[in-house]
Amino acid sequence: MYGSQGLTPKLVLRSQREARIRGGHPWVYRADVARLDGGWRDDEAVTVCAADGRVLGRGFYNPRPQIVCRLVTRQDEPVDDALLRRRLETAWAFRGTLAYDGDAGRVVFGEGDALPGLVVDRYGDVLVLQVLTRGIAARAGRLAELAAEVTGARAVYRRGDPTAAAIEGFEDMSGWLLGRAEAVAEFREGPCRFHVDLEGGQKTGFYLDQRESRARVAGRAAGRTVLDAFAYTGAFAAWALQGGAASVLALDSSGAACARAAAHLAANTPPGSAARHEVLEANAFDALRAFERDGHRFDLVVLDPPPFTRRRTAVDAALRGYKEINLRAFRCLRPGGLLASFSCSHHVSPTLFEEVCREAAGDVGRPVRVAAHMSQARDHPVLLTVPETRYLTGLLLEVLE
Ligand code: SAH
Repeated sequence: MYGSQGLTPKLVLRSQREARIRGGHPWVYRADVARLDGGWRDDEAVTVCAADGRVLGRGFYNPRPQIVCRLVTRQDEPVDDALLRRRLETAWAFRGTLAYDGDAGRVVFGEGDALPGLVVDRYGDVLVLQVLTRGIAARAGRLAELAAEVTGARAVYRRGDPTAAAIEGFEDMSGWLLGRAEAVAEFREGPCRFHVDLEGGQKTGFYLDQRESRARVAGRAAGRTVLDAFAYTGAFAAWALQGGAASVLALDSSGAACARAAAHLAANTPPGSAARHEVLEANAFDALRAFERDGHRFDLVVLDPPPFTRRRTAVDAALRGYKEINLRAFRCLRPGGLLASFSCSHHVSPTLFEEVCREAAGDVGRPVRVAAHMSQARDHPVLLTVPETRYLTGLLLEVLE
């Protein structure tokens, strides 16, 4: 039970470390903490206080990771079912404003929805819940019930995250939290029908964050020969087929992803279309080099690689990687060709990414126009005071001659 103020465990911050949290960032690092008052028990919420005793908010405490607490509220209110339900309702209402065509999307994006440590995706009437902190892990079952009530979903699957579990010290698990459905969920994204393997698929499931960029690319795909490098299950390529591409080639280094991509391309070729589609299991760096050497040219190339770095210290190496693939892609484009190029490394800012693409264009000596700036889909909302919530950046680049 939530007791009186005096009985609530209090996490008191060091005065010289309060500014970030007062400024709207919800993370409390271990080094920010002066002391923990009151009898805190595992997984319980604490009241976060400034050195002068002022209440800054409440969140779940965990002494094990570097980030010992993430604020769930900035009010002096209990962190209980009512608050969690309200957060879920607000998140769901926001998705309703996005007017997406389809039945899949991100329902909860952690900090971006004031629910740090929780990710919820929707595929048709099935939800997939991911837990990233111990406090949220302890409430996974209840959150599944609340999320199903708010969204009307009939089943909720929990996808494990061994990295988060090890950092936070909770037991990793995958399985149905509520109800039960097929292991492979079918859903619609715009004109495309896709499948996601909840139990056996890659941890990432499906890259919902790229839906708006896929729509943009599809809008420029008509009549073009398309290369979807780093294709995963071929979602960009499928959208390009629906957009009237003349041919698509989806390329990925994962055999399992390629198998799913082949099915997606077959299922998303419009009736009566003469478009060709092909899937290639290969390393994109090698394949781009081979295309360049063999004179294999395209009208539209998508480069959506995995994060080349998750650490600030490895940014230089990541930038070299981005430069290389972009340079090779430019060389494989016909005049008038388009390159949709992305980085999902948080530490590579839009400015830095544009700089890398500029260098690559400069090296190939071709005039390149910025046709569009792209970012993560709006159902992965950025919290202005939490720069870490912005991680995906992209450019649609047009090689003029
Ligand atoms: N564009 C996809 C998501 C791509 S995720 C979509 O919209 O769904 C990045 C993909 O790159 C993963 O599927 C991974 O298997 C693949 N990958 C990683 N390194 C690679 C490499 N060197 N060559 C080709 N594919 C690679």
